[in-house]
This record gives sequence, structure tokens and C-alpha cells, in this order.
Amino acid sequence: MRDQVTSMRFDAISVLPAMFSALTDHGVVGRALGRQLWQFKCWNPREFASDTYKTVDDRPYGGGPGMVMMVEPLLRTLAAIRADQQSSGLTPSPVIYLSPQGALLTHAMTRRWLRSGGLTLLCGRYEGVDQRLLDHAVDEQISVGDFVVSGGELPAMLLIDAVVRQLPQVLQDAQSAQQDSFVDGLLDHPHYTRPESLAQGAVPAVLLSGHHRDIEQWRRRQSLLVTAQRRPDLLRRASQDGRLTSADLSFLASQDLMGVLD
Ligand code: SAM
Repeated sequence: MRDQVTSMRFDAISVLPAMFSALTDHGVVGRALGRQLWQFKCWNPREFASDTYKTVDDRPYGGGPGMVMMVEPLLRTLAAIRADQQSSGLTPSPVIYLSPQGALLTHAMTRRWLRSGGLTLLCGRYEGVDQRLLDHAVDEQISVGDFVVSGGELPAMLLIDAVVRQLPQVLQDAQSAQQDSFVDGLLDHPHYTRPESLAQGAVPAVLLSGHHRDIEQWRRRQSLLVTAQRRPDLLRRASQDGRLTSADLSFLASQDLMGVLD
């Protein structure tokens, strides 16, 4: 993957910076931060408020419940991020607003961002952000699903994790990320570990055979089966994109599953 940068920087804008310790202090992504394989800075817009109460939200014009994040503290936060990025010799990163109204986060997006130097992630709270800030300062809106959570921090952490785990050297076995669901357009195959035999079933014999070609074929076929069963839309798209081999198609035909591709 020659086109990847070795270190990405994420800047998050959040009124609850402590939430990000869930990402920065734990697991492979946290360890990768410690190894400086990626960089993270969290910016609290309260520090850019103009009053002593550090106000960043106000009541919505037109009435209604909840509060709305104000434009000016966010603009000042963004200006500080830009200045900091420039003083570090970085080009300003695209600004993404995590929003239930955005495009659904996909593996393809994470691949695109992997080739960028980093992202600035705006985490909303309350009823969201004043539309004028979104119109003038946000490049993209991204949603993590058709549901609403209380703030953009968890969605931002999902996005960062999904990107960072694909950076070189983050996972111990570089192949892990390449064999995950969605990478080749299909869902992942089932996995088994010790013991070989349990009341709940035995490990499929082929996985114990030591025949790498047979194991690869079994795994590919399991991926095809599980994708046909759970996400036929993905299988159709893989077929349309020319990602299914003639062996894949023969196998699907033998399982009477060609209809899934229609
Ligand atoms: N009133 C907004 C709406 O219905 O579109 C929802 C506001 S939500 C309570 C507060 C913040 O959580 C949003 O500004 C956004 O940053 C974040 N958020 C909520 N659901 C999200 C989702 N599915 N994907 C990404 N961000 C989300």
C-alpha cells in the first residue's frame, strides 16, 4: 500500500473531550497512538467561547426543545485548528460533521480517508449545530446509522477506529484488516479456535487438514454463503463490480444461489 501516509492526524471538536479516552487509552488503536502511528488532538469549543460562562450553545430561533451549538465559538475553534496544523507543516484537513443526516459510513469511505493526511471531526451535542456553520465550514456530513445518539463523540470514535486499524503496522498481523468483512466486497468467513470439539459442535475438518488451498476455498465459499444469506445486496454489488470469480459463480450455482444476483 505505497499510497498510504504513515501517520495520520485527527482533530476532534468536542465539549466532552474526556470521552475520547475510550479510544486513545485502549486496545490496538490506543497502542498505535502510543507508538505515534497516528496523532490525535481534541479541541473544546468552550475554550473559544467569548463569555465567562464558556457558553457554546443557545436556544433555537423559532422556539422548540433543546439547544443549538453556536457558530462563533466553533469558527474560532476551527481557526485555531488550522493555525496549529499549519504550524506543524500540515495542510488543513477536511472538516467532517458527524450527523444522523449525513451519508452512511462505509468501508469505501475509510479507504479514501486512509490516503489523506487526516480529518477534523466536528462532534455535535444538544439539537445539533447552527446550519450556517455547517453550510460554510463543513466539507462532509457522515452518519453511523439510521438512529440518533446523544453526541458526535461515539460516531467520531467509530470513524477514527475504522480508519486507524487499517494503517500500516497498527494490527500485529497486517493481513487481519485485509481479511475483514467488506474489504473484498463480501462478509468475513466464520472463525474457530480451541478446543476442537465441544458440546456446541466440532471445528470443520478442513480447518484441521493443513491443506492451505482447501482452507482458502472453504473460507471463500463460507464468505459467499454468509453474504448471500445476510447481505444479498453486497453479493449483487460484488457481482456487478466484477469481484466474483468464475469459481465463485460455479459455487453459487451449485448451491442454487444465482437468483440472489438478479
Ligand atoms: N437533532 C438532530 C437530528 O435529529 O438530526 C440530532 C442531534 S443529536 C441528539 C446530537 C449530535 O449527535 C448530532 O449533532 C451529531 O453530531 C451526533 N449524532 C447523533 N446521531 C448520529 C448518527 N447517527 N451519526 C453521526 N452522528 C450522530
